[in-house]
Amino acid sequence: MASGPVVGVDIGGTKILAVRLAPLARPARAEGEPPNQGGPSRGAIAGAVEAEARRPTPRDGAEVVARIFEVVRDLCPAAPPEAVGIGIPGLVDRGGVMRFSPHLPGLVGLPVADQLAVGLPGSRLWVGNDATAAGWAEHRFGAAVGADDVLMVTLGTGIGGGIVSGGALNEGADRFAGEFGHMVIDPHGPLCPCGKQGCWERYASGSGLGQLGREAALGHRAPGVLARAGGDPEAVRGEHVTQAARDGDPDALGIMARFAWWLALGLANLANAFDPRVIVLGGGLIEAGDVLLGPVRKAFAELVEAPGERRVRIEAAVLGERAGAIGSGLLAAGGAAA
Ligand SMILES: [Zn+2]
Repeated sequence: MASGPVVGVDIGGTKILAVRLAPLARPARAEGEPPNQGGPSRGAIAGAVEAEARRPTPRDGAEVVARIFEVVRDLCPAAPPEAVGIGIPGLVDRGGVMRFSPHLPGLVGLPVADQLAVGLPGSRLWVGNDATAAGWAEHRFGAAVGADDVLMVTLGTGIGGGIVSGGALNEGADRFAGEFGHMVIDPHGPLCPCGKQGCWERYASGSGLGQLGREAALGHRAPGVLARAGGDPEAVRGEHVTQAARDGDPDALGIMARFAWWLALGLANLANAFDPRVIVLGGGLIEAGDVLLGPVRKAFAELVEAPGERRVRIEAAVLGERAGAIGSGLLAAGGAAA
């Protein structure tokens, strides 16, 4: 672990969120001890975020790098930090070059790590996928503390993913692993920003929930949801469905059950492939809480192979919107083996 200040930066589709982390040892846990369900480790990481900075995300790649330098200076005005981690939605190769990003096309081809090294010559750098970083944070200090085999699934505009196997980060041969959202579950399905058809994220992300809500509203099957969107069916988004479901609206609960089935379908495929102990669900959709988690766990048990033999837990993320920034900082500070 680093002994000086550490900065983690999460480049989102709309905002750049940066945190400064205090030097922090990992929470004590003896091998074989039951997973930590909360309490001390969550308090420790919350306390470890000493300061935060935000900026809107520019469209242009050079501007994004300039904003990163700004937030780092905001958080460490006296001297450059010991380590800086950057999480980006997309495929970042081993050289720290952004190779593919359906949601931030302005960054494609950008040598992010090289450009940061010029402005931060004394800092240790990590540049990688945002959901991978979020998964590492949840594994170290969040919902999956104590579990060595963890999948992170972030539910936002799309679906991101991260893999921890045997206690180590698994990024794949070229660091392109964890693109769970682009598993094709219907080859004739709707077009995805990645260029393929019927990707899982078209059905099981926040955008997918909004689509189910709009279809129900247009078919006059969800008046409570429609009212929350101001009476315009085309304005229905995922959060209108979750708000109505949390208020007990039966139509919204029905939409959530259908949505949960699509989400659980992909989770069951992932569990069959990876055999994780914990699947952590993160992203804005998780604020829906039990109205989402309950139906997801039920549908998952119906869809996964040999459910009676498996001990996989599906848990909500606990580090919230800061998970990607925290994980990026941790990876820069200590590496995946720390
Ligand atoms: Zn796709």
